[in-house]
Parts: sequence; structure tokens; C-alpha cells
Amino acid sequence: MVLQDLGRRINAAVSDLTRSSNLDEKAFDGMIKEICSALLEADVNVRLVGVLRKSIKSSVNFKELAPNVNKKRLIQKAVFDELVKLVDPHPHTKPFNPKKGKPSVIMMVGLQGAGKTTTCTKLARHYQSRGFKACLVCADTFRAGAFDQLKQNATKAKIPYYGSLTQTDPAVVAKEGVEKFKKEKFEIIIVDTSGRHRQEDALFQEMVDIQTAVKPDQTIMVLDASIGQQAEAQSKAFYDTAAFGAIIITKTDGHASGGGAISAVAATGTPIVFIGTGEHILDLERFAPEKFVQKLLG
Ligand code: GDP
Repeated sequence: MVLQDLGRRINAAVSDLTRSSNLDEKAFDGMIKEICSALLEADVNVRLVGVLRKSIKSSVNFKELAPNVNKKRLIQKAVFDELVKLVDPHPHTKPFNPKKGKPSVIMMVGLQGAGKTTTCTKLARHYQSRGFKACLVCADTFRAGAFDQLKQNATKAKIPYYGSLTQTDPAVVAKEGVEKFKKEKFEIIIVDTSGRHRQEDALFQEMVDIQTAVKPDQTIMVLDASIGQQAEAQSKAFYDTAAFGAIIITKTDGHASGGGAISAVAATGTPIVFIGTGEHILDLERFAPEKFVQKLLG
């Protein structure tokens, strides 16, 4: 199911109820059930759906409603608020805010194919267009061609980059790149890392080594919107190792339901900061939970 379909289905469930002449508790329960089925089919974690079900249910208490209360409004608001909570479980966690005139190192982690390298360039351009001096460091020495890909993207976007075709230790390359750019007074230094290894342990060890070498101000996990039920376990494993502080969900323009990726947010308690909306460098949007849910519901 595509993300838009999920929105349409939830919207339809709410509209059917609020338009019906028989707006009683039974009909309300039916709406909640339909919303929960839609979320489950979109791969939202079953435990989260359970929490949402209870919260919506308890936010409208039919027995104690004053006669003049606008039930439709109340129900619409309850559904909206719970969906916002679902995509933003920690509204008090402030997203990372880089400052001008000071170097900020951002390290990107995530599985190969998630869209890391593409997102690194998008993010560098995002900050560049806001007046920051931004650059890229390729610390993926595992995949042949990784540096070339970053170089190509960076050149196209006119963003300075650093990498090595001969150095095989990614932590060394990362450190060299970050030190060089710090000396040159860059303000946003984005470090791209490998997303694959012969063994998962080696990948995780490498993340720790790079983190130790460059001491990032923010580590961001890049997640493909099409990741399904395995999102929770995977993001937890990454979180336990790299303790990332933010998530970027890519490919929200595709045919993915997005529910798995959304569940990763709750599993790790970290906010989504941006979403990828296409392959082009400009296809990156700042994530705003309310706006996202508004758009989802059409
Ligand atoms: P990496 O292995 O994690 O570095 O992934 P890449 O950056 O190489 O991206 C893998 C593929 O996903 C490429 O074909 C990208 O163009 C594509 N991609 C990345 N982000 C998006 C997005 O937001 N939307 C779409 N449609 N494609 C994306």
C-alpha cells in the first residue's frame, strides 16, 4: 500500500463516520478498527497501532459528552493528534541545529541502497543554500565506486569533497577529511559511511571507529521508506551501536507504505528530520509532523 493510500483510507474512515447520521460509540469503534487495519497493512508496528487504538478510544468518551459538544471535530482532532504522535513520539527532542561560524560534523549511517550517498549531497546543498559552507567526506572504502559516486554528485552540485582511492581504513579517511575541512573553516562537514560489509559485526565496528575518529555532532540514520516490518529490529541494532540522533526517510515518493520506517522512529525515540522525495538533489524536505499528517490525510 502506498503512503497516499493509507491517508485516503484513514480519511475515508473518519469522513464516513462524521457524515453518518448515527454517530454513536459503535460507529466510532468501527472507524478506529478501520484506521488500525490500514496502519497494520502499511507495516506500522502492531504495538504502536495498539497504543494509537487505545488513545483515540479514550480521547472521546461517549458517555460523558456534553450534548452541545461537536463530536465530529473531537473525533477528527483525536485521529489527527494520534497520527502526529505516531510520527513524532518525542516532540520535545530538538533537532540538531548547526551554527554559522562553527564546524558541525554530521555522520550518515544506514544500509547500502537506503539512499545515503544521495542524501549526503542533498543535505549539503540544503545547508549551502542557507548560507553554510558545506562539504562532503567519503568514508566508504568498502564498496568500489562509492567515492566516484560521491565525487560525481558533489561535482554536479559544486560541493567540495574529500576521499581516497588508496587508503583502505575508513576511519583514517574520515579523520583526514574532517580535519582538512575544519582547518578550511567549513561549517557543515557531512561524512558518508559504508552500508555493507562481509559481516554485520564488521559494519558496526566500522561505524564505531569512524565515530571515535571524527566525533560527529550529529549521527543520522538513513532509512528507505520501503523497509517493512524489519525496520524496528534494524534501526534498534543501528541505534545500539551508533546512537544516532535523527532519522531521514528516503524514497517517500515511491510505492512504499512508509509504516515500517515510521515505526523505527518510535522504536529508537529519535525524530525524523528530513524526508527524501525523489532522486533529484532538490528532493529533500524538512520533516514537520503536523504538516506531514495534514498532507497524508489530503
Ligand atoms: P546508498 O547505498 O545508501 O548510498 O544509496 P544511494 O544514495 O546510492 O541511493 C540508492 C538509490 O536510491 C539511487 O538510485 C538513488 O537515486 C535512489 N534514491 C535515493 N533517495 C531517493 C528518494 O528520496 N527518492 C527516490 N525515488 N530515489 C531515491
